Amino acid sequence: MKKYIIAIDGPAGSGKSTIAKFLANELGFLYIDSGAMYRAVTLYMLERRLLKLVDKKLKKHLQKIKIGFDNKLVYLGNEDVTDKIRSSQVNKYVSEVSARKVVRKEMVKRQKEFGKHESIVMDGRDIGTQVFPHANLKIYLTASVEERARRRKKDMKKLGEDDSLSELIRQIYARDAYDSTRKISPLAKAQDAIVLDSTELSIRDVLKKIGLFVPYIKR
Ligand code: C5P
Repeated sequence: MKKYIIAIDGPAGSGKSTIAKFLANELGFLYIDSGAMYRAVTLYMLERRLLKLVDKKLKKHLQKIKIGFDNKLVYLGNEDVTDKIRSSQVNKYVSEVSARKVVRKEMVKRQKEFGKHESIVMDGRDIGTQVFPHANLKIYLTASVEERARRRKKDMKKLGEDDSLSELIRQIYARDAYDSTRKISPLAKAQDAIVLDSTELSIRDVLKKIGLFVPYIKR
C-alpha cells in the first residue's frame, strides 16, 4: 500500500500538534510529535545533569535513550513523561539541547524510520525541510506571538504552572529566535509548504483549510 507523509512545521505554540493529531486521526495515519522527542531528550539530560556533557559521551547516552509513543502518551524508557516534558524547566532548555548536532542526528534518524513503515503526520521545525523533504503535503502553521502565548498559558495552567502572559511572550520570542537562527536545521518554511496563519482561526477553520489541500496531495 502506498504511504503518505504530511509534514507540519511552525514556531512554538502555533497549534501544530493539535492540528496534526486531528489530521492523523481523520486520515488514519500515525502521528509523531517530533518536538516531544527533543523534549524527552532534554528531560533525560536535565534529570541526569548531562547538559554540559561533551558530544562523544552524549552520543552514547542518545543511542540508548528509549522514547516511545502510545496513543497520546510519551514514554522515556518505561516512564510516562507526557506531562513532565511540558514543564517550564524543559521549555527553558529544549532549544539549546535540540540545537546540538549529535542530538539532531540521532532524532532525525529515528524520525525517518517512523516514515518508512506507514503513512504518517509529523510536526516540528524541520520536518518539511530536512526530515521528509519529499513529503506529500507540507504545511507551515504560524500565529502571532501574543496568540501563541495565550494558548501556551492555557496549556501550562492545566499542568499547574501559571507564568504571566508577558513572561510567556518573552519565552516564546527567545525560543523562536534560538530555533530559527541555529546553524543546523533551523525552523524554516519549505519552499513548497502551504502557509496558514491560525491567529484568528479556530481548530476547525484550520482543519477545513488543510482539508481543501488533502485531495491534491502529491501522489
Ligand atoms: O514543538 P515543541 O514546541 O514541543 O518543540 C520543542 C522544541 O524542540 C522546539 O522549541 C525546538 O527547539 C525543538 N524542535 C526541533 N526540531 C523539531 C521539533 C522540535 O528542534 N523538529
